[in-house]
Amino acid sequence: MSKKINRVAIVGAGITGLVTAWKLQKFSVEVDVLERKAEPGGAIKTVKEDNWQVEYGPNTLLLKDRMVAEFISELGLNGEKKTANPEASKRFVVKNGVLEPLPSSLKSAVTTPLFSLGGKLRVLAEPFVPKNSDRDQTVAEFVERRLGKEMLDYAINPFVAGIYANRPEYLSLRHAFPMMDDLEQEYGSLIWGTFAGSKKRKEKGRIDRELISFEKGMQQLPLTIAEQLNSMYLNHEVRSVTEEDGEWSVESSLGKFGPYDHVILNTPIYKLNQEIAPVTDQELKTLKKVNYPPLSVLLLGFKKEDVKHELDGFGFLVPEQENRNILGALFSSTLFDERAPKDMHLITVFVGGGRQPELAGKDSEELLKLVVKELNDLIGLSGEPQFKDHVYWPQSIPGYHEGYDEILDTIKNIEDRKRGLTLAGNFRNGISVPDCIKNGLKLADQLAGSVSY
Ligand SMILES: Cc1cc2nc3c(=O)[nH]c(=O)nc-3n(C[C@H](O)[C@H](O)[C@H](O)COP(=O)(O)OP(=O)(O)OC[C@H]3O[C@@H](n4cnc5c(N)ncnc54)[C@H](O)[C@@H]3O)c2cc1C
Repeated sequence: MSKKINRVAIVGAGITGLVTAWKLQKFSVEVDVLERKAEPGGAIKTVKEDNWQVEYGPNTLLLKDRMVAEFISELGLNGEKKTANPEASKRFVVKNGVLEPLPSSLKSAVTTPLFSLGGKLRVLAEPFVPKNSDRDQTVAEFVERRLGKEMLDYAINPFVAGIYANRPEYLSLRHAFPMMDDLEQEYGSLIWGTFAGSKKRKEKGRIDRELISFEKGMQQLPLTIAEQLNSMYLNHEVRSVTEEDGEWSVESSLGKFGPYDHVILNTPIYKLNQEIAPVTDQELKTLKKVNYPPLSVLLLGFKKEDVKHELDGFGFLVPEQENRNILGALFSSTLFDERAPKDMHLITVFVGGGRQPELAGKDSEELLKLVVKELNDLIGLSGEPQFKDHVYWPQSIPGYHEGYDEILDTIKNIEDRKRGLTLAGNFRNGISVPDCIKNGLKLADQLAGSVSY
């Protein structure tokens, strides 16, 4: 039987660490969370300025698992939930410089100019494409083989840029989109599996999808969790983590903490070093292979009368084939009310990522010029931005590259060798906020409850 856990330190108040702490507290475990910055949330950061409310990190949370919905409810956030406006169900993809809606019905799938007749027929042939036994394939290899090149170029390439800020040629299918891999393995077809597997997904805890944020923006989630924690140390950069005879201690810029039975490192992989994690040179070298591409986010406000396009959707994504300088944009004030003054639009634009890393680090003025030119071409602008802000993420989102098993095996080896240590965060089992929430809840259950996954 494993040892009962009474005291835990969590290094980093990202969403995974916060959720784990919250759930461990429910099991009466004493938890200290130590965070380097002055506020909790990590990548989740909302800024309010006059009548503008902008997101530096995630804009939305896709609610599709009962576990996550129940967690939000238990936090007391149901009344604060903000569901995306119905227009958000419409999403655009740029083709030949024009914003074309993604098909949402059989009729629009037949008539959409996004794909040629040959491309559409190729998709219909998907159920007849034989299953591939090579499980270590990239997203691009998988999609081109099953759905054809047009689907890769005008659906999956922009979609991957929108989620991972990366390229389908770089990401491993099994790690980045495990559900697609499961559908092929289990049903031999994505199309057939999507229909045949819907009952099974419901049984697995799936609920009807709802795209949400919160009244005070995404950061209301980590702030609410943090308020419910008994022990949180902000402005505490952890500099060393040590273990002696099964007892752990943690040293931050402001003092020594411990002893603990267990330490959870919720720091991004690129922040790991041999002081805070007992790793060998070789393990560290392997872990540092995880690439977090640089990304710039521009938050721009325009008078509604200065924008030709109605912005009647979630936003648009730009396929690489279109040779543009932006990855895409969200129509943030269409998505949720009260994100901009009534007569203004708020648009969130993404630049760089794994596709164009060299663009992400340009200075704000250069980026503004480049983005305004692109927006002008695509949605028609006539005036100057009334609001502007720029966030640079030098290392944005971990890319689960081909061969990512090597990373996960290395993490597992470290944890097996150093009992009482866990590495947790978006570099493992999903990068989305809901995935991080699920991972945090499951980790607490494994450590202090009697559940194993
Ligand atoms: C621009 C952007 C847009 C995104 N959009 C979406 C979206 O729309 N929807 C969605 O679901 N997901 C989105 N994501 C992904 C999602 O936001 C992240 O994957 C998730 O929030 C990461 O959580 P995490 O638990 O890994 O911790 P992180 O957010 O990585 O937090 C780690 C924490 O550790 C702290 N830390 C680091 N070193 C130390 C140290 N030595 N001592 C103490 N503390 C330390 C850091 O300060 C930080 O607070 C987006 C991400 C980005 C960057």
